[in-house]
Amino acid sequence: MWESRNFGTLFGDHRVRLKKARDFAALVSRYYRVPVPALRGVRAGASKKTWTGQQLPNRLEVNIDVAGWTYPLLAHELAHYVLSRKVPNYEQHGALWMGVNLHILDKYKILGKHATLPSARAFKVKARHPDKCKPGNLSGN
Ligand SMILES: [Zn+2]
Repeated sequence: MWESRNFGTLFGDHRVRLKKARDFAALVSRYYRVPVPALRGVRAGASKKTWTGQQLPNRLEVNIDVAGWTYPLLAHELAHYVLSRKVPNYEQHGALWMGVNLHILDKYKILGKHATLPSARAFKVKARHPDKCKPGNLSGN
């Protein structure tokens, strides 16, 4: 889950059709060797404090009152989903999670490392290097 104020612009633009969103979730799930999550749109209200997307044990949800599926939002929630399966008790939005998020963004050419890493550093966001967040390299710390 991520408050909409942080990445609202990023998440609000370039919505993808549900079929494409499902295909992408399946692609990333196969890569990380986890079961494919269901995707669901729910109505959770449009206040500024309402969540945009969230990850549940077997599915990802988007709040259709404020957003639709976009690749950055999918990458965000898939990073939560993968880590919830692979690294119990990982830190939400911590360095490992951000590294996986950036790896997905880079691997699937949504946003490259050249854009995300300097940006993360500039904003003092802790991120494990995306190259260290491939499927075989995941572990907590
Ligand atoms: Zn989140």
